Amino acid sequence: MLLIDAHLDLSMNALEWNRDLRAPIQEINDREKHLSDKPDRGNATVSLDELRKGNIGIVVATQIARYVAPDSTLPGWNSPEQAWAQTQGQLAYYKALERTGDLRPIRNRSELHDHLTLWESDKHTIGYILSLEGADSIVSLEYVEIAYASGLRALGPAHYGPGRYAQGTNATGGIGVKGRDLLRKMMDLHIILDATHLCDDSFWEAMEYHQGPVWASHQNCRTLVDHNRQFSDEQLKEIISRGAVIGMPMDAWMMVPGWVRGESTPLNKNVTLNTLIDHLVHVCDLAGNTNHVGLGTDLDGGFGREQCPADIETIADLQKLPELLLQRGFSDEDIVKFCHQNWLDFLEKAWS
Ligand SMILES: [Zn+2]
Repeated sequence: MLLIDAHLDLSMNALEWNRDLRAPIQEINDREKHLSDKPDRGNATVSLDELRKGNIGIVVATQIARYVAPDSTLPGWNSPEQAWAQTQGQLAYYKALERTGDLRPIRNRSELHDHLTLWESDKHTIGYILSLEGADSIVSLEYVEIAYASGLRALGPAHYGPGRYAQGTNATGGIGVKGRDLLRKMMDLHIILDATHLCDDSFWEAMEYHQGPVWASHQNCRTLVDHNRQFSDEQLKEIISRGAVIGMPMDAWMMVPGWVRGESTPLNKNVTLNTLIDHLVHVCDLAGNTNHVGLGTDLDGGFGREQCPADIETIADLQKLPELLLQRGFSDEDIVKFCHQNWLDFLEKAWS
């Protein structure tokens, strides 16, 4: 079954975790056994080969770089220009992987159709849609045009904390004039709004203003795990009413209540792919149909095997999902929708 994963920080892993994604996963993990600078060292689940093994033929690949004010305790760059330069390094990594034949850019419907045809016969070159997580690196609005010309097709204005264009997870406040100007520019260019990480105030202001396509690339349900990072039922219903697809992420703390980082384990909290399906079922219940859910795993997005479903050894294990969904009573048609069709339908419409 073809799978689409709508949120992977591939280039962040390459440039900030120093992971060679062209290497076998075992080698990636072996090379960082002696490192302890990050909690997920030696626990990577994502490599290009594992994506191929999992028949994950299309990914949404991020650029990500935060600006931080002098009083911030979050990691980030001290100026927007530096953040921009970081995203351009990340872009250069994707471009290098295009040259090696590992990645193929998907920027419009014809590239999408061509890729799907090519993937049927040769599951080597993975299609990627470029997105930006957090807009801090957009120095000024003309940079949106530069980014679009480089292939940017989706943008989440916020990440964790306060942002230059919108407020993110754990922050409060609206998007203001700058955020609205950004949305207008995105609408002009038909860049997809990624609602994930918008805090409640910014989310509702963005919804009031934005008229273009919107998705939530990696987003679970507040009703199941209560945290401001998760969307409430009202928020989920709002984006569903706009035709959004919601990508289900696999960071364990967003899947089960009471996760304590560094203490909880996937086994002692019994976090499995079935836990993810609970969130998926909840979104389907809210929607009244199966048209608005897909995968946005965020695997290796700052966490690894120590904090993802116990039945995920590598990202290739996503192929266990179709059988699990069948056991949960979904039809073959529904499973195809979750695995790839909902994202494809969304893109067909957004890029028409
Ligand atoms: Zn994220």
